[in-house]
Amino acid sequence: MIVIENGTVLTVDDAGQVWFGGHVVLDGDRIAAVGPGPYQGPVRAGDTVIDAAGMVVMPGLIDLHFHTAVGKGYCDHLPLCESLEQFWYPSIRALDAETAYWAAAASYAESIKNGVTTVNDMYRRLPDLGRAAADIGIRAVLSNDVALDEHRLDTLQDNQDAHDAVHGAGDGRIEVRVGIEWLPLASPELLRDARALADDLGTGIHVHLNESLTEVENSKERFGQRPTEVAYEAGLLGPDCVAAHCVWLSGTEIAMMRETGTHIAHCPSSNAKLGNGVARVPEMQAAGINVGLGHDAAESTNNCDLFEVMKFASLIHRAARVDAGLQQAPDVIRMATRNGAAALGHRTGQLTAGYKADVILVDTRNVMFTPLIPGNADQLYSHLVFAANGSAVDTTIVDGRILMRGRQLLTMDEPEILRQANAGLTRVLSRIGS
Ligand SMILES: [Zn+2]
Repeated sequence: MIVIENGTVLTVDDAGQVWFGGHVVLDGDRIAAVGPGPYQGPVRAGDTVIDAAGMVVMPGLIDLHFHTAVGKGYCDHLPLCESLEQFWYPSIRALDAETAYWAAAASYAESIKNGVTTVNDMYRRLPDLGRAAADIGIRAVLSNDVALDEHRLDTLQDNQDAHDAVHGAGDGRIEVRVGIEWLPLASPELLRDARALADDLGTGIHVHLNESLTEVENSKERFGQRPTEVAYEAGLLGPDCVAAHCVWLSGTEIAMMRETGTHIAHCPSSNAKLGNGVARVPEMQAAGINVGLGHDAAESTNNCDLFEVMKFASLIHRAARVDAGLQQAPDVIRMATRNGAAALGHRTGQLTAGYKADVILVDTRNVMFTPLIPGNADQLYSHLVFAANGSAVDTTIVDGRILMRGRQLLTMDEPEILRQANAGLTRVLSRIGS
């Protein structure tokens, strides 16, 4: 058991309960108890007791749209299509097993250090990603970058093979879904086949939809319909489907998302950096669509810090609509935790007995959280979203296993990850002639 005491427990449960000086008890891979005051149950020899005085104890963050990154800092001035063609697609065509493993390890390490306990990772070479996820201990939902054959990315057969090889690995922490890159590299037939495969495997779907105006124009030219209309008619959408970005949704497309129960991964910092625009999140939420948060990829937003994404997820809408009341801090925390969990069908994203033991400790004994009035929950939510960044995360626990404590990664050798990730990028650059 792990007994966490004396912390400020931000449960993000149905009642939004906050316990000052509360406890959280983890037994195996589950949360056994959450409540106010010290833990009154038995503590046995061999149990780990964590004194969380000065810390916020909260659910781990869920990065609902994620790509392992092999490089960043390239094509940083280019729009989406051009940056994909000039760097991202060549780089992911040039991956080998070792490069994919260390790129995933580096990406997951950065996420763990920023308090992320689950990633929804669309990338290639899933068996290598699965090994990295199992070794480092993060919860990972993996999907392939499936596109039409002529684009030389992944096929549905690759995705099925990856499902057979990896789904359920890491004591069930690793899942495989069917991934579709995006409409410019797909066809209605490919979307229908992807849905059939997902149903056949009993798994979910991960897709990019309506990310840029160029994508929408491409879809209208090739199919006579907007991307989400094509996905809707192909049967791709549904409560097991996470659609990323969704910046340029028409009213009809928002209704299609709602009708099908599709979940949306909002990626405001990526959308801003690539000049893609501002998603209609207030309209999505008013329609009753479940919206979580994603960083997208380090190639498009340059870090995996979901605290930064949370701040963007509020500020970008306030700026665009001249409305300081939009996207308030507790709502944004819910997007980054329980909404992401709901989108993936996971029993995570809140501190409730019986849920998975995915917990983080955020240290408030620093300038980011100062001044802080004891017992003021509103101020705490505000600091978490508007003042903090991921470097405030002290401890990250997944499935009851401590992956980071005191900012030290415990499951893998961090300097080795950095060395190998740098070597991997060098190999990729030499292959693509950059
Ligand atoms: Zn993406």
